[in-house]
Amino acid sequence: MKIGFIGLGNMGAPMAANLVAAGHEVTGFDLAAPCPDGVAKATSAAAAAEGQEVVITMLPNGDILRAVAGEVLPAMAKGSVLLDCSTVDVDSARAVADQAAETGVLAVDAPVSGGVGGATAGTLTFMAGGPDAAFGKVKPLFDVMGQKAVHCGPSGNGQAAKICNNMILGVTMIATCEAFALADKLGLDRQAMFDVVSTSSGQSWSMNTYCPAPGIGPQSPADNGYKPGFAADLMLKDLRLSQQAAEAADADTPMGARAAELYATFVEQEGGTGRDFSAMLPRFEKRGRA
Ligand code: NAD
Repeated sequence: MKIGFIGLGNMGAPMAANLVAAGHEVTGFDLAAPCPDGVAKATSAAAAAEGQEVVITMLPNGDILRAVAGEVLPAMAKGSVLLDCSTVDVDSARAVADQAAETGVLAVDAPVSGGVGGATAGTLTFMAGGPDAAFGKVKPLFDVMGQKAVHCGPSGNGQAAKICNNMILGVTMIATCEAFALADKLGLDRQAMFDVVSTSSGQSWSMNTYCPAPGIGPQSPADNGYKPGFAADLMLKDLRLSQQAAEAADADTPMGARAAELYATFVEQEGGTGRDFSAMLPRFEKRGRA
């Protein structure tokens, strides 16, 4: 397939490299990052999009996505697909889909789970929103860049799935970290705590797969000085998106709201920026009380 790829940062570069390795013809554009080997370099976003069957975007936020969509949609052929894999707000995803429809372009919002490791290994999970026909067209690309793609419904539903998932993740990580800190104070051994919780009703991905306590459970960023992994800054971004969506939809999400507050304090005032999101555990150890 002929593919344009805009946003070749930590995630976009390995995703584009996997498409090249699978035999696709990829033209890329990024304001700052270099093109990976095998990706032809375009001089603008519009130039990268022109004449492509699919244009993939992997950008920092919804405002940038809207701006880039404004540049690329007029350059795209009717019937081609704009596939946005960034994590953005639901409203931006739906606005871009409406704008695409006006120019005869199909839009799919398909944020990912799996991080840089998954992008590099080609094992991402995609959660997609958009028309059936558009999902069908890009499904072979999901199969190259990932191991699973779930079609969640119309435009914006991919982003909705992503922020709901990450709201659960942020809340369970905090709950797991504060429980470890409490267990310490009660004199409960961490290994015993893990052995019980990971096989009891307190289990979660945060405990079982990504345990925030160093030396306990499977290998995780806690065993690597809390180097991300999934940075606390990105968790804060996603929690803020979930709260923005909750406010717009009049949904009651008090735990999500508190998790967003705690990650904001952690990132902005407690040195959490650039650390893995599981570094909430040393934060709770240090502070004792939130
Ligand atoms: P990144 O900052 O490494 O990459 C973003 C790239 O976009 C940068 O190279 C930047 O130069 C480029 N860019 C910005 N504005 C541009 C423009 N107008 N035109 C062209 N290029 C432009 O970020 P990342 O870690 O690759 O994340 C990308 C997206 O994926 C984000 O929405 C993020 O939330 C999401 N995501 C990241 C992870 C992760 O672990 N890093 C995991 C899941 C989802």
